[in-house]
Amino acid sequence: MLQIPVELGERRYTVAVGHGLARDLPAALAALRGRRTVVVASRRVLALHGRALERPLRALGAVATVALPDGERFKTAATLGTIHDALVDARLGRDGLVLALGGGVVGDMAGFAAATYMRGVDWAGVPTTLLAMVDSSVGGKTGINHPRGKNLIGAFHQPKAVVIDPAFLATLPPRQLRAGAFEVLKCAILADAPLFDALEAAPAGVVGWDADAFERAIATAVRVKAEVVAGDEKEGGWRRVLNLGHTIGHALEAVTRYRRFVHGEAVGWGLVGAAAIARDRGLLEAAAFARIAGAVDHVGPRPGVSDLDTRAVLEALSHDKKARKGRVPFILPAGIGRVEIHDDVTTAEIRRALRAMAAREA
Ligand code: NAD
Repeated sequence: MLQIPVELGERRYTVAVGHGLARDLPAALAALRGRRTVVVASRRVLALHGRALERPLRALGAVATVALPDGERFKTAATLGTIHDALVDARLGRDGLVLALGGGVVGDMAGFAAATYMRGVDWAGVPTTLLAMVDSSVGGKTGINHPRGKNLIGAFHQPKAVVIDPAFLATLPPRQLRAGAFEVLKCAILADAPLFDALEAAPAGVVGWDADAFERAIATAVRVKAEVVAGDEKEGGWRRVLNLGHTIGHALEAVTRYRRFVHGEAVGWGLVGAAAIARDRGLLEAAAFARIAGAVDHVGPRPGVSDLDTRAVLEALSHDKKARKGRVPFILPAGIGRVEIHDDVTTAEIRRALRAMAAREA
């Protein structure tokens, strides 16, 4: 088992990574064992893994389980209400525990329910998608969508512990697995060249990756995120680097009304776009650009971008939450394992990057 601390002073917690940990939850979450616990779980995950988890959850202290329909369209105030109802029905007290079991959608909602119930109760995460393992379960961002925007309603509420069991990934559809792998690749480009090498050497789409190597890669990606978050918990400055690939990625998702790409695929394209801007600025060597774009392709195919209206993409970019005075700050790779924040990327540069992305379409 690998343990990664998230150093946040009195809100410090540990992320444990290891095959089979979910079956041994009472030991993995020993410090929280015996609390009155409500499990907030994905219906699909319960159908696939519920049986095996029954005994460990009971031994942990589970008194009730809320089974949620998952998928982004259920990340709503209505579903949040269902969770709050279950917490009230289970008579969860201030000393209770909410346990999130599922992908990022369930984790964000369970964490937000814990943040708001009785002005805040403790929660812990057992993520079951690769994206949730390496991204959403670490950092304390919780929330739901509003009909007019993603993640508009939310709170920072750090979990007490996170337990990552890569065994869950055996049932994850390949497209969802790749979606998470694009985020692992992001972490590698951001801060960890050996992780980049490992991804290049992994099987395409990370399907059938050796269990130990996969476990190490997950732990490394978590460490990268944990270190960034520890330095800037509420995204005042450096935490923005986690948006590498997301600036263009979010715009691609918005112009296709969140229907064409899964989030990680849009991020994959965004990594190519950011690397192209960095290369054209002379920040990134051409060989490093080729490696980054090659690694994105190695992680997997993405729906196309060449038919998208460039003006619509630029318009969506200008609405980016992080835009200031009409300019969006870009996180640009300065090498493999190194990034810089640039506030002066021009429309012409973005257009060129979009052309470079379209040219790489299979
Ligand atoms: P998701 O939660 O919708 O899960 C994807 C699909 O996988 C679902 O259909 C789910 O039923 C299924 N699934 C989950 N585990 C499975 C398993 N082990 N086997 C088979 N199927 C399984 O999506 P996601 O990609 O995990 O998370 C996306 C969400 O995470 C978005 O809402 C996004 O806003 C959020 N997010 C949050 C943060 C954060 O910092 N809080 C960061 C990144 C993303």
